[in-house]
Amino acid sequence: MLKELFIGLSQNQLLNTAAKKYGLKLGAQTVVAGTNLPEAIQTIRELNAHGISATIDNLGEFVFERDEAVMAKEQILDVVRAIHENGVDAHISLKPSQLGLDIDREFCYENLREIVAAASEHDIFINIDMEDHARLQPSFDLLDELHKEYDNVGTVIQAYFYRAEEDVRAYKDFRLRLVKGAYKEPAEYAYIDKAEIDRNYIELIEYHLLNGKFTSIATHDDKIIDHVKQFVEEHNISRDKFEFQMLYGFRRDLQLQLASEGYNFTTYVPFGNDWFGYFMRRLAERPQNLNLVAKQVFTP
Ligand code: FAD
Repeated sequence: MLKELFIGLSQNQLLNTAAKKYGLKLGAQTVVAGTNLPEAIQTIRELNAHGISATIDNLGEFVFERDEAVMAKEQILDVVRAIHENGVDAHISLKPSQLGLDIDREFCYENLREIVAAASEHDIFINIDMEDHARLQPSFDLLDELHKEYDNVGTVIQAYFYRAEEDVRAYKDFRLRLVKGAYKEPAEYAYIDKAEIDRNYIELIEYHLLNGKFTSIATHDDKIIDHVKQFVEEHNISRDKFEFQMLYGFRRDLQLQLASEGYNFTTYVPFGNDWFGYFMRRLAERPQNLNLVAKQVFTP
């Protein structure tokens, strides 16, 4: 019930727009690293000091106007420059919808290409985050086209999709982030049952660890993390072939612990005014995060 509620709220355009005006509220500051780029860079410096890399997401939702997509592109180009100029250990995560996928595919491609080209000059990796089912194939198509010219680009495979196994095989030569999947999808396309998602997730991870280029295992789930640790040991998979990833503000102790155990680790660092949808999806995944909200609301 709560999951449905929060996913519904994340998709509410009015609330998303309204929230932009008020800065980080409701406890969002615990999982969003500020509203501007200097704040995000400061967070990344702190992570880097602990041996943790970062992937930066300049938050953006509901982009239906061309000028909004162009603004998002300019902001992401600023992030590229900031990573380079500050010499921080970081790459970028972005969403095709933020760059105009829902407006015009070619327009989105040109925005994306400009970013990937600028990033490639500084050897900065660009991850195309995956959104809901409607945008899945169009996002893979963008990736295919970009990859003809650039190799500093990769994407995400969401284990809840039935097609994920096929996708992980087709994209084995890419750097891939493997996740369970964050959106509400119909049974027509995706496993609904948690156990089935977890089973598929492990199969995808094992396949890509054995056959793929570089694997980012993005989860907060101890069972999956422990399984990966054991699997790489048993199969002699070198630590430079994979990393763990978690979201900023989640399981900080475990993030530090994995980094100190010598695993490559990347924290997903979202920042910006457009925090509402992101925050609601996090609450949908784990309503216990409501504690975050409650603490903020009741703390003077
Ligand atoms: P869950 O299935 O939510 O939890 C499993 C178990 O892990 C829980 O029962 C609990 O025991 C433990 N656990 C989980 N969270 C916590 C916590 N905070 N504290 C203590 N224990 C906890 N989704 C997309 O659809 N597209 C993307 O591009 C995308 N990118 C992502 C990038 C990163 C870096 C991460 C970490 C996630 C991303 N996701 C993305 C979200 C992902 O799909 C999942 O929705 C999200 O990670 C929740 O699933 P989980 O694997 O963390 O574990």
